[in-house]
Amino acid sequence: MSLPDQLCLHCGLCCDGTLFRDVELQPGDDAAKLRALGLPVTRSRRREEADQLKFPQPCSALCSDLKCRVYADRPSRCREFECALFKAVAMQNVELPAALKTIRQTRQMAEKVRRLLRELGDAGERVSLARRFKRVKRKFDAGELPEGLDAETAYDRFAELSLAVHELDMRLRTKFHPDPSDV
Ligand code: SF4
Repeated sequence: MSLPDQLCLHCGLCCDGTLFRDVELQPGDDAAKLRALGLPVTRSRRREEADQLKFPQPCSALCSDLKCRVYADRPSRCREFECALFKAVAMQNVELPAALKTIRQTRQMAEKVRRLLRELGDAGERVSLARRFKRVKRKFDAGELPEGLDAETAYDRFAELSLAVHELDMRLRTKFHPDPSDV
């Protein structure tokens, strides 16, 4: 069994909106074909990314068994990306069981962030964790508290969420990628 089969099919963090917000297309990627395959490729609206084509994460091509539905036609960013954990296992610096344990724990950390986001009223599961956290934080900063929670509970949950996001960010930076999309 190949390393991607042994490792990546237990992970999905680089496709499910935990590690990244978007996948940016590169020269040579066929945007029309990716669109025809169902990926919502659009042009970035951010001024600093003028004309950048990209599609959002969680990726709509990621299946529940963590396989990529468009694997043979995936864009070059996806083809070329190898996280630090993958490289460490490939270089035999980390044993496979230890890597799988790291993945399991990190997925649990991401799930805790998702649960807290839901409890704070953010139900938009088709958006990256970084964007969802920013959205919730913006509301708290504006004094808009989630419906159905008293103020003390809401602020307690938000403190818990902020800590969970920080712990996840540290984990992602140290084990997977030095520059996640500031989750
Ligand atoms: S196209 Fe495939 S490899 Fe790329 S982000 Fe989507 S699921 Fe992951």
